[in-house]
Amino acid sequence: MPTPALLLDRDGTLVEPRHYPRRPEELVLYPNLSAGLRRFQAAGWKLALITNQAGIAHGYFSEADLAAMHQHLTAQLAQQDIQLSGVFYCPHHPEGIVERFAHVCNCRKPQPGMLINAAEQLRIDLDHSWFIGDILDDIEAGNRAGCRTVLVDLGTEARPQDPIRRPTAVARNTAHALAIVAALSDLGPAVELDYQPALWQ
Ligand SMILES: [Mg+2]
Ligand SMILES: [Zn+2]
Repeated sequence: MPTPALLLDRDGTLVEPRHYPRRPEELVLYPNLSAGLRRFQAAGWKLALITNQAGIAHGYFSEADLAAMHQHLTAQLAQQDIQLSGVFYCPHHPEGIVERFAHVCNCRKPQPGMLINAAEQLRIDLDHSWFIGDILDDIEAGNRAGCRTVLVDLGTEARPQDPIRRPTAVARNTAHALAIVAALSDLGPAVELDYQPALWQ
């Protein structure tokens, strides 16, 4: 049976925002997420990362560098009893300098390719899954894949005009996003749902 999943953007959503991190120690987990993540795991949900890593196409770091970063991140999560079922990344960018990654693809968010791959590989039921991200490209990718979506407000995004870029809910931070998804999935207590980003008021 396909299972629901909590799909997470990496930079700014699971880890603190940083401009093109390229070393393991530059991935710093937000400190207040472990209980919220374990709640989904305990309910049988899968957890997976869905991340654009155009720094590979731009030549800032290699796929091996990224693997080392993700090994470190996975180990940090494992110390908190959190297991990722998958880490999906897009190495492409049409204006990259590394030729084999310098093209348009169907995996770079806002395209939904990584979510669709994740669903196939991990047997995820996208209709009952959520994608959490900090920019509207995340939201569009999640919506296009048929997930419900939560935007974590880092103060960067204006209110979307296009319905495909509208999140199901907006959260003040990732811990709040996890609480919203838990509440709406009957896994946790009711929470504030009407949070409005400053840029949307
Ligand atoms: Mg992000
Ligand atoms: Zn791609």
